[in-house]
Amino acid sequence: MRLIILGAPGSGKGTQAMFIKKKFHIPQISTGEILRDIIKSDNKNYLKTRISNDIKKGNLISDDIIIDLVINRLKCSDCINGYLLDGFPRTLSQAHAIKEAGIVIDYILEIYVSDSEIIERISGRRIHIASGRIYHNKFNPPKINGRDDFTGELLIQRDDDTIETIRNRLSIYHKQKKILLDYYKNLKTFKIFGFPRYYKISGSFSIDKVRNNIFSILVKK
Ligand code: AMP
Repeated sequence: MRLIILGAPGSGKGTQAMFIKKKFHIPQISTGEILRDIIKSDNKNYLKTRISNDIKKGNLISDDIIIDLVINRLKCSDCINGYLLDGFPRTLSQAHAIKEAGIVIDYILEIYVSDSEIIERISGRRIHIASGRIYHNKFNPPKINGRDDFTGELLIQRDDDTIETIRNRLSIYHKQKKILLDYYKNLKTFKIFGFPRYYKISGSFSIDKVRNNIFSILVKK
């Protein structure tokens, strides 16, 4: 089970990725998380400052940095039975680089939600940093306001979840998604080995319904 999950920020991609990871016992390789971990680390180097500035502005991190990080991560032993790529690849160079590195993708799963719904959702999103658990003030509230259900620790709003940043991120996401889907469509058209199967599912239903729809697709395959 080697898959790419696609979805705009706020589409529920992170929540669904967690379900898939548990069900199929594969690691979720989230480049956003890897980058945020670097920002949180004690290192005071040029790379950390560069990543931090780009993320705050909603810009993509340069391809060479991210490709290196992912290729190294996929060499870890927990990836032997598959992986769930979340937030990667986002550009043609990234897709091309993993193909050249012999990394195979079986499925692309896109969770689709309209931009207007995304903007409504984003303002209520809260995260438990230590575990990666994601809540929403209205759609998936924690049992105690502002606190993680399992640890009781404080939830936070991500720096890049402001409306201005989200508009920028949505526009980048749409452009990059098109480039990526065109790339994989081309592999299929020219019957080049390693083209993935592509599924688009609506992310506008409840979390449970979206999860069941995803499972029914992936279990059947
Ligand atoms: P995410 O949590 O996936 O929305 O990622 C948060 C931010 O990390 C993005 O807005 C980018 O600045 C950066 N980022 C994550 N994944 C990538 C990637 N594959 N390529 C470039 N930048 C990335």
